[in-house]
Amino acid sequence: MVTNDHSSDMGQLYIVATPIGNLQDISPRAVAVLKRVDRIAAEDTRHSGHLLKQLDINTHCIALHEHNERQFAEKIIQQIKEGSHIALISDAGTPLVSDPGYFLVKLAHEENIPVTPIPGPCALIAALSAAGVATDRFCFEGFVPSKGGPRKTFYSQRQKEPRTMVFYETPHRIVESLKDLCEQLDEDRTVVLARELTKTFETIRNDTAKSLLAWVKEDSNQQRGEIVLVVQGYRMPEGDTISEETERTLKILLKELSLKQAVKLTVDITGEKKKRIYNFALALKEERESV
Ligand code: SAM
Repeated sequence: MVTNDHSSDMGQLYIVATPIGNLQDISPRAVAVLKRVDRIAAEDTRHSGHLLKQLDINTHCIALHEHNERQFAEKIIQQIKEGSHIALISDAGTPLVSDPGYFLVKLAHEENIPVTPIPGPCALIAALSAAGVATDRFCFEGFVPSKGGPRKTFYSQRQKEPRTMVFYETPHRIVESLKDLCEQLDEDRTVVLARELTKTFETIRNDTAKSLLAWVKEDSNQQRGEIVLVVQGYRMPEGDTISEETERTLKILLKELSLKQAVKLTVDITGEKKKRIYNFALALKEERESV
């Protein structure tokens, strides 16, 4: 068994990523671990059964899904303490990324059980890597809310988010979702629709939100399959930027004073236009609140 540095009679918990479409994306290390462990905890044993069969893996599978995780996690932890090696997989991609497993991994740490990730496919990372949008800072927000009201609020609250945002969305809501994104976030923002990644009909389109909406509406094929949305973060309009020195002054004053007082003093000190400094201070405030 491949192990990390923990030496005891305890077993180990492996968190194993599986393909998000293309079977060849499973790593040799993942296959080796899945073959050697005593049991595989799978989100859906029937679904994973097909994958395991194709990979010629005969390890016994047990079900660990969102409805039984709390109850079964304790049993699994007990088995590991007694020496079993267990691997956790989900239906596709990396477990715990919009998938079950959090409770089990948390419990494992509480019980000092070694947890080893076997990294591999993940839809959000695959989409991000091919999106052509800044990746130096990004936030993953999971699934977009399914109902109209909460979805509108969700998008409007992210209007000034400066980091690239990644969302999961379902095909039957993609049109309504893009409509809300255009109305509540920004119709001119660069958005990438990454659909059916690693599969036959893989599509990755980088465009403005409004053009993407028109395209998806027109072509019903784009309303099928699995979807990740990557949305460029908020950029301050060119005219609203201020000099580095003014920015430094403003940031120091904002630490001590109210926004209004800091803006007034910055204007007095630097002589720059009040409106620009005020807009900049507002954006800074929103950036801090959104992080
Ligand atoms: N754990 C998975 C991962 O690592 O990405 C995500 C599981 S989540 C329940 C399923 C969602 O991930 C789908 O609704 C879709 O938004 C996204 N997804 C999964 N596979 C995908 C694929 N091949 N192409 C695009 N999106 C995918």
